[in-house]
Amino acid sequence: MRLYILHLGDCYVDKGSVLTPGLDSGMWWTIPIVGYLIRTDDGRNILVDSGMDKAHIADPEATFRGQPFGEVLKVRMRAEDYVVNRLGELGLTPADIDILVATHFHFDHAGNTRDFTASEVYVQRDCYEDIMRLDAPYPRATYDVPGLKWHVVDGEPEIAPGVQLLKTPGHTPGHMSVAVSLPRTGKVIIGIDAIYVQDNLDRDNWGAYQDPVAARASARRLQAMDHAMLLYGHDPAQWATLKKSPDFYE
Ligand SMILES: [Zn+2]
Repeated sequence: MRLYILHLGDCYVDKGSVLTPGLDSGMWWTIPIVGYLIRTDDGRNILVDSGMDKAHIADPEATFRGQPFGEVLKVRMRAEDYVVNRLGELGLTPADIDILVATHFHFDHAGNTRDFTASEVYVQRDCYEDIMRLDAPYPRATYDVPGLKWHVVDGEPEIAPGVQLLKTPGHTPGHMSVAVSLPRTGKVIIGIDAIYVQDNLDRDNWGAYQDPVAARASARRLQAMDHAMLLYGHDPAQWATLKKSPDFYE
């Protein structure tokens, strides 16, 4: 089994507004936007998240133009950062993806869900109910489209040998992380936005999360789980140390 870490663009953010409210206001960080590809020994391809909508390549303000959030977060996306192009570098197309794990539906994680009509889209029940509300605060056009094969899960199933979904609510309802047990590297926990950055843990700051109490519990649980690597959602320091696709962990 192999794990590829896909670079799907960056955002330039005011850390004290976006990542750790009340701490480091006015400190601007470039943070990575990330997807993950798991290739199993029996030839299945599991994609975790699809990154930012490709519309941001031509128009960085496509999502947040005119909104206050657009003042503290600036999108930087190149053509190669589009998930379909990253998969193409590995000789794959969306039709080759058996499962798309949709961890949650913020613009930087599920922006190209609509490209994956050939895949089963795994989503946690609480998340699915949240995103399908009429007033759901997510970019609906990226995911509420005909032809998607939704696979709603409840709990923490193993979706392939050594690949387990983890329910880590708090950032959003039904947010998911993924644990991947690799033969050489060991157990990698793909935390997604259960933990944005190391500073959330070190300074116990969960103010950017929808439900801070639940978020803290989810993050501390991941931290306490047995693991060889715990990947944060958007940590530039950790990012600098990781192998990126086409390199991989095995
Ligand atoms: Zn995120």
